[in-house]
Amino acid sequence: MTHVLVTGANRGLGLEFVRQLLARGERVVATCRQPGRALPLNRLAGEHPGHLVVLPLTLPEPRSIAELARELEALDLRIGLLINNAGATVNGERLGTIALEGLHHAFDANAAGPLLLTQALAQRLEPSARIVNLSSSLGSIAGTRALYTPSYAISKAALNMASKLLSVALADRGAIVVALSPGWVRTDMGGAGAPLGADESVAAMLRVIDGLKPSDNGRFLAQTGAAIDW
Ligand code: NDP
Repeated sequence: MTHVLVTGANRGLGLEFVRQLLARGERVVATCRQPGRALPLNRLAGEHPGHLVVLPLTLPEPRSIAELARELEALDLRIGLLINNAGATVNGERLGTIALEGLHHAFDANAAGPLLLTQALAQRLEPSARIVNLSSSLGSIAGTRALYTPSYAISKAALNMASKLLSVALADRGAIVVALSPGWVRTDMGGAGAPLGADESVAAMLRVIDGLKPSDNGRFLAQTGAAIDW
């Protein structure tokens, strides 16, 4: 049966994606690092019996990714929409304090994770699946004006390249792969001062996702649907 898979679904935009997808009757696989502690997700699973499967996934751990792929196969679930939402940032970096650890941390979660997960799930994707990689305008090389969150920005630029590579690799299956920015959103990552609520950002992103056409394959889009310069 066709499902939407959302990573990093225990809080923030991931949780809101799950809420809105369930509200419109979709079947969802929600992944998070510790399902036992994901209380809002487990509550949603109780409220939507048969529509929400919660599974563990820590990115980009190969064993965790392989275990998820095995579980989806065992449950005979196919993925029509993969939302690579999980992501991480490094706070307080400036020139002089950038550390290898921070670069690794951001790259692992934001670039290696989505790429390796998509590769592992390629066989479980529906023929015209959509793959949505949550990127950021901070990953736009063309839009760079200051050294701001460098580990994060570099990792999202790498995610953009991964998105482009996947769009080429999966084109013959009719897949549509996009890098999609949610805007600046009030979550743990975005902070309390962000202009958008998670509900409005996700509603806008779902409108963009619903409207994706084959000609959008390999594009970098904002939640408004406007193109962002790479
Ligand atoms: P949050 O920090 O609120 O949530 C991040 C989610 O990702 C959590 O579920 C977290 O799990 C999960 N996660 C982080 N690292 C890993 C990992 N290594 N393996 C598995 N799961 C992981 O972020 P947002 O909801 O705000 O962001 C969602 C996406 O949107 C991210 O990709 C982010 O970069 C992007 N984005 C957000 C913006 C914003 O303004 N909020 C702006 C631009 C882009 P756990 O709870 O276990 O830590």
